Amino acid sequence: MCYAIPGRITGIKDNIVSVEYFGEQKKARNEFFDLKIGDYAYAQGGFIIQKISEREALPVLESWKELFFKLQEIDSQLIQKDPKTLYQRANNLRQKYHGNSCCTHGIIEFSNYCGMDCFYCGIRKSNSKLARYRMSLDEILEAARFAVHKLRFKALVLQSGEDPWYDEEKLVYLVKKIRQDSPSLIILSLGERDFGLYERLYKEGARSVLLRFETANLDLYAQLRPGRELKNRVELIGKLHKLGYLVMTGFLIGLPGEKEEDIKKNIELTNALAADMFSFGPFIPHPDTPLANTPLVHTETVLNTIANARVLNPKAQILVNTSFETLDRANALRSGLMAGANSLMINVTPRKYQRFYDIYPERAGVEEDVEMRIENIVKLLRSIGRAPTDLGL
Ligand code: SF4
Repeated sequence: MCYAIPGRITGIKDNIVSVEYFGEQKKARNEFFDLKIGDYAYAQGGFIIQKISEREALPVLESWKELFFKLQEIDSQLIQKDPKTLYQRANNLRQKYHGNSCCTHGIIEFSNYCGMDCFYCGIRKSNSKLARYRMSLDEILEAARFAVHKLRFKALVLQSGEDPWYDEEKLVYLVKKIRQDSPSLIILSLGERDFGLYERLYKEGARSVLLRFETANLDLYAQLRPGRELKNRVELIGKLHKLGYLVMTGFLIGLPGEKEEDIKKNIELTNALAADMFSFGPFIPHPDTPLANTPLVHTETVLNTIANARVLNPKAQILVNTSFETLDRANALRSGLMAGANSLMINVTPRKYQRFYDIYPERAGVEEDVEMRIENIVKLLRSIGRAPTDLGL
């Protein structure tokens, strides 16, 4: 569930609360707040992330009232009664299980230092051409405040390379402060760090991890991620899921030597890892990496992957990755959302750092005005009847 419209609490059983949005009932876990029936709260990813007063909630609900039903109607009109293609079937499943909700997360890329040397990645440690940056803790907190209070995001991804400079003390401080100052679902994307660190950050209130395995093909994995083994990554993801984190995981599409069968296995592994959100996108080669000359994957391959993932797991959130938008700037968002996807990410990293998080070249959205970008995305979402609910508009 990803409604950033405030909901009214209509039932409480242990730490599970029922939340009502214009007559629809959803469930969410409440681990942090003293709630009673009749209170208002925001929920994200199935967690209550902020309690708000009735005085704050009612005007927001009022502004949504008509639009909420109008968007549902537009979405329903675009659904095919008799779906003929794979994309139409996937879109129907998306609507059946998620309605017209589209989660839109903000992402802060706070460091491009990485101790790893993955062949497919532009910020790998051997790329000596790249200027490196680390945002200070204050800069990260300021970026989070801007995203939550000014841009109204309710879910934030904190992403970096594997950078031990951000040790337990620093990360605990960040998670604690963000929870206090900028209520949001905190999603960690820090790479393969110690389980103990993740445990500590969970205690402090982080509730989601984005940790992709990139390929389920053992040979490719060993070749492209020197020094690492797939089984360790899979094991870590499993432990994080067991601990209670919402898991976002997935893969690259189109690594050299990859076959159609590999993509199928990637989807299956994502599903087997109990992913709450599937995060996958086309591989876009970076000129300063060993895979510079890999041909680009076709748009249809990405769309087929989205649709096949939706058919396999109708309940998962499926992200239209920025790399897909980079591959097909004009159509990726719309066509991905019409082929079964229901989630997006918007870069809210301070503009001066964005181009240095150069995992692949010419990423969509980099150095665009973020408010303009949100406006354009909201327009697109409304044209296909989706509620950009994480933005709380
Ligand atoms: S893919 Fe991740 S771990 Fe690998 S080099 Fe890039 S940032 Fe580092």
